[in-house]
Amino acid sequence: MADNRYRPATQVVHQGTDRDPYTGASAIPIYQASTYHHPEGSAGEYDYARSGNPSRRQVEEAIALLEGGCAGFAYASGMAAIGAGLSLLKSGDHLLAPRDLYGGSWRYLTSILPEQGISCSFVDMTNIEAVRRAVIPATRALFLETPSNPLFNITDLRATVEISREYGLLTMLDNTFMTPLLQRPLDLGIDLAIHSGTKFLGGHSDLLAGLVTTAQPELARRLKRHQNALGAVLAPFDSFLLARGIKTLRVRLVAAQANARLLAERLVSHKAVKRVIFPGLDDFAGRDVHFNQSSGPGAVLSFELHAADQVAKLLRQVRLPIIAPSLGGVETILTHCWSMSHAAIPSAVKDELGISRSLLRLSVGIEDPEDLWEDIERGLAG
Ligand SMILES: *Cc1c(COP(=O)(O)O)cnc(C)c1O
Repeated sequence: MADNRYRPATQVVHQGTDRDPYTGASAIPIYQASTYHHPEGSAGEYDYARSGNPSRRQVEEAIALLEGGCAGFAYASGMAAIGAGLSLLKSGDHLLAPRDLYGGSWRYLTSILPEQGISCSFVDMTNIEAVRRAVIPATRALFLETPSNPLFNITDLRATVEISREYGLLTMLDNTFMTPLLQRPLDLGIDLAIHSGTKFLGGHSDLLAGLVTTAQPELARRLKRHQNALGAVLAPFDSFLLARGIKTLRVRLVAAQANARLLAERLVSHKAVKRVIFPGLDDFAGRDVHFNQSSGPGAVLSFELHAADQVAKLLRQVRLPIIAPSLGGVETILTHCWSMSHAAIPSAVKDELGISRSLLRLSVGIEDPEDLWEDIERGLAG
């Protein structure tokens, strides 16, 4: 495993292994092989590609390095990574999760887990006393997402870790929105850091990937066993793309975050906009807690329009943002949460949570912010 004495900007570029040990090539090649020769019948470092592959190992080392873990695991998608974390639970266990979270996670927790005999309660994680009250004798784990998606509710990670230690709960955090450069959950005592590598880590909207890392060798051993048994591993080519994306994570994030701040400030003063939710704004509700555990606001914001019929007009008129359910790309992505990222959540639940039909999520890319603003302003006009 590589050197963790380097600073993050260096780590993202050099990662775990910064040149191919066999040839000296400047990038780890795409080891497109399903199995490995066993000289005289015994396996070397690699035996079969589901158990290990040098291209995949590159990103597994990278995420462990960036998050301060002892081992990393790469999966075929963010949901496969979340499934890997949840596979550590067993029938009869009870899980606590935030009320608003990524739509795919919500679907997993409400439809797949109950079929496996694992129950889940949704609790307002911004209220630490409510979390404590929701713990029952069967509770074994806390699933966390902060900032939550798309409403940016902030969970106090240190306080949550305290509760989890008191009751012996496993804590897992979906750290996709912040990336390890802005929030390092393992340092705060969280057991598993989970990422959809599809978003900021990949960064170019051209792959699906998921990552998990932990600082605890016993959890790492169990994750390794489950990864090999379940087999939803990241393919060599996608591992290559992900490693390549991670190399520019820092410069992309710095640029996107600055653009997001500028657009958030301009949206606040636009008359068509009812409210803007962005951790970088002075009036952001969870500001103190967020900046006590994160070093930046990120590059995603949500905003609500006064009238739901303005949404259709905006989606018809904008040219630059891709209108889609995703985030974290170099290109700006505009999401209508109601019908896209959170389509899996029933309307009544969305209403209750405050995910209204006029709510939009903007993942700000690295284009010129003036072009982005002119485009959005045109869509909001009239
Ligand atoms: C996209 C996303 C996921 C799921 O990742 P996939 O790679 O699409 O499976 C999970 N959590 C969050 C916060 C996400 O944005």
